[in-house]
Amino acid sequence: MAPEAGILFDAGTGLFRARDLLQTTTLDIFLTHAHLDHIVGLTFLYDVLYDKEMERVTVHGRPETLHAIETHLFSQPLFPVAPPFEMRPLADAVQLADFTLRHFPLKHPGGAVGYRLDGPGSSLAYVTDTTANEEEPYVREIEDVDLLVHECYFPDGWEDRAELTGHSCTSPVARVARRARAGRLVLVHMNPLNEEQDPIGLDAARSIFPATEIGYDGLELEF
Ligand SMILES: [Zn+2]
Ligand SMILES: [Zn+2]
Repeated sequence: MAPEAGILFDAGTGLFRARDLLQTTTLDIFLTHAHLDHIVGLTFLYDVLYDKEMERVTVHGRPETLHAIETHLFSQPLFPVAPPFEMRPLADAVQLADFTLRHFPLKHPGGAVGYRLDGPGSSLAYVTDTTANEEEPYVREIEDVDLLVHECYFPDGWEDRAELTGHSCTSPVARVARRARAGRLVLVHMNPLNEEQDPIGLDAARSIFPATEIGYDGLELEF
């Protein structure tokens, strides 16, 4: 989340944290795709926004993502009360205060988009879910970004599984960061069943791209 701009990427189970982080009276949520771990938090918005005077809450996504949410997540048996936001199909470039937001396609079963947010003097890219590969076209979209937030569901050695499920192993993500000349890399969307302290092999990543760290709940990053 970029709280000073009221921008949130995806709406997973961590969305409840927006209640304390929100600093604006507008909220723009940009969805990468409609898999449940990225949208289920939309159903928390009644509680998250309770007592807050919001001018506008907008959920942005590909038309097929918004359609899936409307027909499935907010279908009568699942969530019969109309959600407290408007939905807007993604525009090529979205201008929000001093920030410009662009999106680009990612390879993932069912499709997904990544985002790049350029602000005054700094930039951020958010890439999930996808199978990292430095030869993929998305790498050009994130060139020279200051902060790259990239998924890393598997450690090295799980390449077949990564390809099958549309997720990433550690070393290919680090190579993407190096090829894109990112300033730093923060790894997210790790397999939650892997509870080791270093679930993805941080040393392997740092041997390729030294400025790598593991994202955790509540981590605050300046960019
Ligand atoms: Zn997914
Ligand atoms: Zn996911």
